[in-house]
Amino acid sequence: MRKTATPLIEIGDQLHVPLFGLDFLGILDRGTNVLEVKPITICNLYCKYCFVSAGDYRRNFLAEPEYLLKWIKKAVEIKQDDAIEVHLAPYGEIFLYSGLEKLIKGLRNIPKIATISMQTNGLLLSSTLIQKLESWGVNRLNISLNSMDEQACANYCGVKSYNLSRLLQTFEDILSTNMDLLIAPVWFKGVNDQGIEDIISYAVKKHSEGYEWPKFRLGIQNYLVYKTGRKIHRAKMREFSYFYRVLHKMEQKTGLKLKLGPDDFDIHKTFPVMPSVKRNQKAKVKVLMQGRWKNEYIAQLDENWAVKVLSKVPLQSQQNIQVKFIKSLLHGNLLTAIPSD
Ligand code: SF4
Repeated sequence: MRKTATPLIEIGDQLHVPLFGLDFLGILDRGTNVLEVKPITICNLYCKYCFVSAGDYRRNFLAEPEYLLKWIKKAVEIKQDDAIEVHLAPYGEIFLYSGLEKLIKGLRNIPKIATISMQTNGLLLSSTLIQKLESWGVNRLNISLNSMDEQACANYCGVKSYNLSRLLQTFEDILSTNMDLLIAPVWFKGVNDQGIEDIISYAVKKHSEGYEWPKFRLGIQNYLVYKTGRKIHRAKMREFSYFYRVLHKMEQKTGLKLKLGPDDFDIHKTFPVMPSVKRNQKAKVKVLMQGRWKNEYIAQLDENWAVKVLSKVPLQSQQNIQVKFIKSLLHGNLLTAIPSD
């Protein structure tokens, strides 16, 4: 059930929380020219399939725009690449982020950032806001949509009403700007099969009106079940080989480009933003505060790295503890640890 009135913790210069290392806040790097930036953890929807369980957190977080920019600049320096894409993809909804204008304008002042894209459910967009985004320098909006039936959309998104006609108008408004539009449905096999077919028909129509790749893209995603995410009832997870086979057939039938890979987004390898610790290694960290969940804590490894510590035993802020890293990924600079002897 959706939680209400949870505290929103604002992370800025005073709190000294590094913005490398956490999955839900700050900067996530997978060793490519794309930096995924997560400024906020609140959402206006409560999707039944939400893989990050937004709306269930006991505490929410926001990274102040100036502070976030400081860390993005650090990451950009490490990457040494002239074609960085900053993809704003929060564990929540980007248009609930009060610092958005400051953040985007700040990003536009960093010469090595070539592309600014964002992920959204699109429901908070208006024609005025779309014009502003264009003038601030946003290049692409990725918008989720899982059906062309309003009731079904409301059901998947866990809300009473969902204004689909307004969202379709939003698509038109975006297409009339210099920004690109990517519609990103999740295919819950066995649940929204008809919805996916209808969205493909809509894309074929837009294609025939002259909105072609890359101005208008359809990026169908395979539904995946995550341990800590919400699950949609009756939906089946499909092997990627099966998923791509079906997309290939649909491509042949419709003439649309549906199988998207790194090359389609000019994604290439760069220097990674990488922690110095590895999986199973032990180290001392300083607990900073509680995280989103009861058993989750934010700790600091060093001046650059935050660590998500999972502990059933309550931990105190400023406590120094020994932890063992259970996750430390080179491609996805996340640090997760548990208390250790
Ligand atoms: S819009 Fe995205 S973040 Fe928000 S609940 Fe739905 S899936 Fe989760």
